[in-house]
Amino acid sequence: MIMWKVPLSDLTFGPEEREAAQRVLDSGWLTMGDRTLEFERRFGEALGTPRVLAVANCTVALHLAYVALGIGPGDEVICPSLTFVATANAALLTGASVVLADVLGAHDLSLDPADVARKITPKTRAIAVVHYAGYPCDMDAIRAIAAEHKLAIVEDAAHAPLATWRGEKLGTLGDIGCFSFFSNKNLAVGEGGAVSSRDDALHTRMRLLRSHGMTTLTLDRHRGHAFSYDVVEAGMNYRIDELRSAIGVVQLGRLAEGNQRRRALTARYHEKLAGIPGLVLPYRDFYARDVGESAHHLMPVLLPEGLSRKPVMEQMKARGIQTSVHYPPIHLFSHHGSSDLVRRDGLERTDALAPRELTLPLYPRMQDEDVDLVCASLEASLRDAASPT
Ligand SMILES: *Cc1c(COP(=O)(O)O)cnc(C)c1O
Repeated sequence: MIMWKVPLSDLTFGPEEREAAQRVLDSGWLTMGDRTLEFERRFGEALGTPRVLAVANCTVALHLAYVALGIGPGDEVICPSLTFVATANAALLTGASVVLADVLGAHDLSLDPADVARKITPKTRAIAVVHYAGYPCDMDAIRAIAAEHKLAIVEDAAHAPLATWRGEKLGTLGDIGCFSFFSNKNLAVGEGGAVSSRDDALHTRMRLLRSHGMTTLTLDRHRGHAFSYDVVEAGMNYRIDELRSAIGVVQLGRLAEGNQRRRALTARYHEKLAGIPGLVLPYRDFYARDVGESAHHLMPVLLPEGLSRKPVMEQMKARGIQTSVHYPPIHLFSHHGSSDLVRRDGLERTDALAPRELTLPLYPRMQDEDVDLVCASLEASLRDAASPT
């Protein structure tokens, strides 16, 4: 195991998480129960919606969303190629096709609404937007396109808990919002996720699908509120458990402050990196646009054109700095690059920008000096990579 001087991300856990988990173990009730209901209620309050369901992870949240919207074979879902593969895979698993859309440009790596509009066909059913790195997509444009063509909007808000677009929380602007509470996300429980929905019908449908399509829960039967159950559709087991929900409640209490700290660290990065020739800082003008708030999940930079990324990452590693890539574009994976169910034309900007993307460390407990060290290391690594000795 490498001892990084600065890791890519790190948990913000204290004794409160351990105590919350301990209380669950002592309670004797491990699966979905009161802690999960509390987590759902509190996360819903934070988002400004009463319709939140906690689930096993964001991948199944996305699958629930597509299934609940009735998407299946013969349908098309438009999503960016520059996202985590789950955004597309969850749609493919319903039997639908995926149409990959291009990014806006070097200043904003989320999907381009104009490209979305170009790729709509009579088979299009939904647009899945991804709020890349925690910054909102242009939801005015996306909502206008969806309204015009009667399409559903799924928001993959895995990077963006508590981020906003014109005052509204991301994940509540479309039909269904999907969140991840994976270990490296802004709210971390290990494996976990949530879905929020626009209306009661979708909420009820997803609650059924989360637990086998059964009309009563184990908890209801345990409490003597129900003796049996009916199954009203073929569902899955996409439940979360009480341990993770209890940790989630504690983590939720740290989220707003953590996002603020990420914002301050990002501002410091932007200031320190501004002078490096050829280096591009996406979202540097984000707050000048005055469209909302980011959750600052990631700190992406674009390396100078013509420079190869791998030697830079190796140089950073030698200096004790962990870096990453968000993302290898979906259309370049062996499966998606050859599947008949994946449309992958018109991705020129993704092809030009994705190979230049490098993600720098960002987490609330990071110190200002850590940012300075990463920036100095990047400057030195770029110099060394440009003129190898
Ligand atoms: C992490 C992530 C997911 C998947 O989340 P899991 O909870 O790990 O299933 C989906 N989409 C995006 C954009 C992500 O970053």
